[in-house]
Amino acid sequence: MAEVFRLGTARAKENLDFRRYLSARHDSGRMFPILATRVQQQIDCTACANCCRHSIVAVSSTDIGQIASSLNIAAGTVIQLYTDPDRERPGSRILRTSRDGCVFLDDNLCVIYEARPKACRDFPHIGARIRSLGGRPSAHARWAPLCPIIYNALEMHKQLAGFQRRS
Ligand code: SF4
Ligand code: SF4
Repeated sequence: MAEVFRLGTARAKENLDFRRYLSARHDSGRMFPILATRVQQQIDCTACANCCRHSIVAVSSTDIGQIASSLNIAAGTVIQLYTDPDRERPGSRILRTSRDGCVFLDDNLCVIYEARPKACRDFPHIGARIRSLGGRPSAHARWAPLCPIIYNALEMHKQLAGFQRRS
């Protein structure tokens, strides 16, 4: 994990260059999700949990209802105890975080795993037709140091696309 962080950070500029390289070649964007899905099958997310430490998770009323049911408490209590207002989207809520990450993260495990919000279920957003966060080329360089799935898929993609590393 530390190696992914070191290399992902060191290659931040290269990853942005790769994005421009793909864009200049009118890349369809289909290859990355295929590679990432393959990598995902070999990664144990419970040994990482970086997304739970570094993401801002928007929650819908459906998400809040599911969390409330799983904890057997009222939706209002979930809102009060476990969410904060989303400063970037007035009227919306996000999961509460601390320096250790999401309020529902215990060690590396999610205590509401079966009822986790949709944004968490979809992360790293690499499925076909999912075009947000990790699935968005613009987010790859940012997430590569944190997410081994994105880092490794990106490195495979560079190789397959014939991208030449400088130096
Ligand atoms: S950051 Fe990536 S590898 Fe780590 S837990 Fe999240 S999805 Fe899994
Ligand atoms: S709700 Fe669970 S899966 Fe989502 S960020 Fe929090 S700990 Fe991670």
